[in-house]
Amino acid sequence: MQLTDSPKFGFLIDMDGVLYRGTELIPGADRFIRELCRRDIPFRFLTNNSQRTRRDVVARLNRLGLEVEDQHVFTSAMATARFLAQQKPGGTAYVIGEGGLLTALHQHGYAVVDHAPDYVVVGEGRTFNLELVESAVRMILGGAKLIATNMDPNCPTQNGLRPGCGAMVAMLETATGVKAFSVGKPSPVMMRAARKELGLTTDETAMIGDTMETDILGGAQLGFHTVLVLSGGTKAEDLPRYAYRPDVVVPSIAELADMMDVYGWCPPWRAAAQKATPSSIVQSPGSYGNLPVPEITAKE
Ligand SMILES: [Mg+2]
Repeated sequence: MQLTDSPKFGFLIDMDGVLYRGTELIPGADRFIRELCRRDIPFRFLTNNSQRTRRDVVARLNRLGLEVEDQHVFTSAMATARFLAQQKPGGTAYVIGEGGLLTALHQHGYAVVDHAPDYVVVGEGRTFNLELVESAVRMILGGAKLIATNMDPNCPTQNGLRPGCGAMVAMLETATGVKAFSVGKPSPVMMRAARKELGLTTDETAMIGDTMETDILGGAQLGFHTVLVLSGGTKAEDLPRYAYRPDVVVPSIAELADMMDVYGWCPPWRAAAQKATPSSIVQSPGSYGNLPVPEITAKE
């Protein structure tokens, strides 16, 4: 079915658990991204991982077979650097983190120092050690503001979970009694900046993610449309535990592409508003608005 008027819309897309798991592309991700490019539908990849620069992220996605460019990537490191440059232009930062964060700060006019900084900024990385923590604690107690690129408690790897930025920040918070200000998802700072990157309004923006605490919460708080994919960390049976819910739940991005196909690449909520009722979609309880959504089936 082709819907005639096609209002503007675009997607903010989480990466880990949506596009890939570890080094494996999730089936359908390449088709979804290819269609967005082909149809000039704006999108940005939104990642809380501040370790890599956007160039590094693009190289990784290209290796996985996704033809995307630098402009498509928006990391928590970029959001953090942009935020700090607005708060205090030309400031100084002591950084516990890696290339993505250091590059973003430099690009926004920040000097990275190891004495009396304006901010202690903590991001993802494998260079964390107690000497860095000790220096950071003294700086925070000396008046430096504590900034986290994100508060994710852990991150999935091929070998299970590794501690995330939030776990490292918790150590500094406990030692100093100072609460960090976090910029990454679900913070409105990053969500709003990403929406502005798309050049779209709130109602034209949708967030696709696999994590309720970051992707879906952030999207819901900003009033974006939200799509939860079950190809990452969240299971369908987890959903009743949350006070907020995604607008659409699909097994993976492949089924979202199928849904978009049915509606002529009009997003499901637009189709719902236009009361479209394609016969190829299975009626199920918990449908979005008037829109019957596909039944959720377990992924093999
Ligand atoms: Mg994810």
